[in-house]
Amino acid sequence: MPAYKIPFNQPCLAGRELQYINEAIASGHISGDGMFTKKCHAWLEETFGVQKALLTTSCTHALEMAAILLDIQPGDEVIVPSFTFVSTVNAFVLRGARPVFADIRPDTLNLDEQQLERLITPRTRAVVPVHYAGVGCEMDTILEIAARRGIAVVEDNAHGLLGKYKGRYLGTFGCLATQSFHETKNFSCGEGGALLINDPQYRERAEIIREKGTDRSRFFRGQVDKYTWVDTGSSYLPSDILAAHLYAQFEAWEQIQCTRKRIWDYYHLSLGEWAEANGVRLPVIPPECEQPYHMFYLILPSLEYRQALIAHLKDHGILSVFHYLPLHLSAMGRKFGGQPGDCPVTEEISDRLLRLPFYNCLTEAQQSCVVDTIKEFKFKP
Ligand SMILES: *Cc1c(COP(=O)(O)O)cnc(C)c1O
Repeated sequence: MPAYKIPFNQPCLAGRELQYINEAIASGHISGDGMFTKKCHAWLEETFGVQKALLTTSCTHALEMAAILLDIQPGDEVIVPSFTFVSTVNAFVLRGARPVFADIRPDTLNLDEQQLERLITPRTRAVVPVHYAGVGCEMDTILEIAARRGIAVVEDNAHGLLGKYKGRYLGTFGCLATQSFHETKNFSCGEGGALLINDPQYRERAEIIREKGTDRSRFFRGQVDKYTWVDTGSSYLPSDILAAHLYAQFEAWEQIQCTRKRIWDYYHLSLGEWAEANGVRLPVIPPECEQPYHMFYLILPSLEYRQALIAHLKDHGILSVFHYLPLHLSAMGRKFGGQPGDCPVTEEISDRLLRLPFYNCLTEAQQSCVVDTIKEFKFKP
């Protein structure tokens, strides 16, 4: 039994998941790179027009592959927002990189591109913009600075599949981009991810890294007559059973996105007046961005207000969650020199942001219950 009447997240079937899982098993190929993995690759490559897409076991692993592909070395610096999931940074730290934390913009909560230039040093190798809530970072500025200063751009697009910036899909701007198909994301197979490769120079080596450092992919294409160990690598390919689940969701993408838009619009419309009257800020979507409706958040007047609202919702059987503790102030972040005050916007937003229940099978009745419960809340300091 779920502990909450309305959970924060719930996995929902979109259509043919169980049928495709059965087909994968019946086909006799349930390891990686089977029929459904190929279908997922083709869908990603055709939909986004990327050079090459590779399914991975997670977005975390796709980020690790990106760090290996960029040959990140001990002492290299990588610029990351402090307001992100730990994997954005960990993947590079695993190669010995030093993370340099950037603050975020107060409107979109994305890496503040105005601060990028001054964080770059001769040791900077990459910048990793995260499209928070799937709302695009200021990519024109980030790409211009990165190109001029010779640093790589890796998009952590875990939230942003199908989001657009200036009419172009997120995940197609950086030399590499990573996706997540974790249970909490718009499209899911429980645990999964993808690496999108926009710069062809990384294409062949990415296949090798993903296949334990072997040229097994070339072997299967008949390009070599035996396969062998050719580079460093690991095992980053998911089972075709997971790909079968994911492909069923890709196939239903229009329906999923339509549902998520309805959920987002409902929150936005029904909480607008209340937000204004109570000093609460709702998400900002700049006109040049099309969002993929990944999440709905509130920015509340204070930490105390937020904690009291979480408790109030909990008392009514509704789970709402905060998001991202500033990484520069985490135990690891402090080892890299993080100090309070380094990223003031991140520190403040982290205290005040609250995410509301959001999943594909959230019903209108449940949503109306969430909204009514929020409106009943009276903050007593
Ligand atoms: C979910 C998420 C990840 C990690 O995804 P996994 O697939 O769980 O490894 C990385 N970055 C961001 C911004 C995320 O939201």
